[in-house]
Amino acid sequence: MDRSGYRGWRVRGIDEEEPAKKVALPGDATPERSGPRRRCVACRASVSTGDLLRIAWPVGAAGPAVGRTLSGRGAWIHPEPTCVGALCPGDLSRAFRRKVTRSQMADLLIGLAAIVGADSVELPDRRPAEDG
Ligand SMILES: [Zn+2]
Repeated sequence: MDRSGYRGWRVRGIDEEEPAKKVALPGDATPERSGPRRRCVACRASVSTGDLLRIAWPVGAAGPAVGRTLSGRGAWIHPEPTCVGALCPGDLSRAFRRKVTRSQMADLLIGLAAIVGADSVELPDRRPAEDG
């Protein structure tokens, strides 16, 4: 290998296009480059929380609502019509560990639709609910 003209290992400022080799770290080592990551309840992609909307069901509330500062068990979803439209009551029931009724789901979807700018988000009318 000819190293005579070699200056440094890599040029800073250029994004690495190839996936960086990641050393297998224990689960508690959180990559801090883009903050914590969460899984979208609709498409199940794991992304930075900055790219997701938080849904929470505060204790005593009538149902789940969108809000990053709400207390309670939370779920995360992409602020995109595809993910909002794909959301199932079963997904939320699992996330909140309690039954999400269709009317609660409808209220939540209305709020989500307003945020993502979707005029019509299909309500989960006859979708098979995953109870369990
Ligand atoms: Zn998603």
